[in-house]
Amino acid sequence: MKALAIIVIAVLLFGLTISEPVHAIPTPKACMTEVLARAAQLGINGWLWIEDNEHKIDAAAFVDPATHSVHISDFVSCELAVSVANHEWAHTRQMDTYGERTTAAYGDELEIIADCASMLLESTYTPYIARKKTKECFGCTQLQLISARNLLK
Ligand SMILES: [Zn+2]
Repeated sequence: MKALAIIVIAVLLFGLTISEPVHAIPTPKACMTEVLARAAQLGINGWLWIEDNEHKIDAAAFVDPATHSVHISDFVSCELAVSVANHEWAHTRQMDTYGERTTAAYGDELEIIADCASMLLESTYTPYIARKKTKECFGCTQLQLISARNLLK
């Protein structure tokens, strides 16, 4: 009886092992179709939106004003695509508005204001706001919201 039980367990284990589907490891690929669709909705305004598999950046994306391009990391999922596009689009608006003076104009608030604009565009992922959020503060100050709203005009 014991031997039979061991055989049954072994068959079950073996059966489970061989019946498990074999998954190929997916190649990281940014969800560029969704990113580009959202960027087009908001307005490309001469910016080149590209998937960036070369820079191996830690951030989901970055904007390069020198080449007028928005680089989207290859790990940006479809779930994050619209939120990332909204945030980066806000950066393009900041740079369109202030050009080389963008960093000076926004100082430490460059990212949070881009995220506030992203939130106003109904992003579900706003990492800079999430870091500031407390019970007393929902993430953006009134001044930051005014600045963010100006980017949406
Ligand atoms: Zn940013």
